[in-house]
Formats: sequence, C-alpha cells, structure tokens
Amino acid sequence: MARYRDAKCKLCRREGEKLFLKGDRCYSNKCAIEKRNSPPGQHGKARVRKSSKYNVQLREKQKLRKTYGLLERQFRNYFHKAAATKGITGTTLLQLLERRLDNVVYRLGFTSSRAQARQLIRHNHFEVNGKKVNIPSYLVSPGDRIAPHGKSRDLFIIREAIKNVDARQAVSYLDLDTNKLEGVFTEIPSRDVIPVPVDEQLIVELYSK
Ligand code: SF4
Repeated sequence: MARYRDAKCKLCRREGEKLFLKGDRCYSNKCAIEKRNSPPGQHGKARVRKSSKYNVQLREKQKLRKTYGLLERQFRNYFHKAAATKGITGTTLLQLLERRLDNVVYRLGFTSSRAQARQLIRHNHFEVNGKKVNIPSYLVSPGDRIAPHGKSRDLFIIREAIKNVDARQAVSYLDLDTNKLEGVFTEIPSRDVIPVPVDEQLIVELYSK
C-alpha cells in the first residue's frame, strides 16, 4: 500500500507547526520545530509565503492530512464520506479521522506515533473486541475494546510507549485501563474535545470549489 515517506520533521517545518509525527522526540527539545522553525530547503527562510485565501485553505488541509499520515486520495475520500453524511461536514471529517484504528491505538498510548501504530497494526499486533484487525483505517465504533493481541502485550515497543502515556494529552472519548492494557472508544467525540488545532471550515471551503 502507498505511504507517505517524506522526512517527518520536514512536514512540520513546512506547516510551521508541531504535527507530532515522530513519537517521543516531539515532546523533547530535539524537536526540529523547537530548534529551527523555518520552511525546509536551502532558501526556506527567505521564501515568502503566499497568503492568498486558497493558500491558507490548502495549508490547513495539508496540516490535517499530514497529522493523520494520509495520502491526498485517502484524505479526499474521507472528505467525500463526511460530505455525504448528515451533519456538519468539517466535524464529521474529524470524527472519521479520529475513529481510525491507527489513531485510536496512538491516542491510547500503545505506540508513540500514528506511523508506528500503522506498522504494528499491519503486523497483526492489535485486536478489536477480541478479534485481530490488521487494517489501520478500520473505523472503531462506540463501545469497541482495543488492545494488543495475545503475546503482543509483552512487546517492548508497546510497554515503553505506555509508560509515557501521561506526557500526552488525554482525550475524553477513550478510556484506558493500564493494568489490563486495554482501551475503550466510549463515544463519537464532539468537535470541542478533539485536540486537533485546525480550522476545518477552511478545508470544507477548499474542497467545495
Ligand atoms: Fe514535528 Fe515531531 Fe519532528 Fe517536532 S520532532 S518537527 S513535532 S515530527
């Protein structure tokens, strides 16, 4: 399956914001944005950013797409799905992205990044309601129980990630039992509790042209 392979810190520097793509490093002073917040490339600093309305909308869309590690085509499909659903399109878009299994595994603290979550899910290390799921885009529903599968519970990478869970921003729609090493997706979150600082209306406007 196609994946985005550009250097992760470069993606943050392009957007001028921390997108938290590299696990624990993002929370340390090694973060490239903390050290050098300028667009990537030899002339990054000197490059003047166009601030047309289109450019502002485009950057907002890129920021959200990169945060969840999606390719353009995948992201657009989520938008179309959101647009076809009753409700506020921008909010529905974010809710769909939040329901992705790789996002849930990451937010629960089982991995240090969404990219790592994707990799472990593809290698059969996670289950939903007791059944193995190896599809990172699988959409979880309220009440679903998410946990490392069988012996994967002892994986060093998962044990280490869960130790640092307190450093992350906890979300109200996920309930983690650290003893059982199991999380529950309790409800579809409302916009105000999804900790993603984007203006999704700009993205709706971009795709509605
Ligand atoms: Fe982005 Fe993390 Fe790299 Fe910082 S360390 S620039 S937040 S990917």
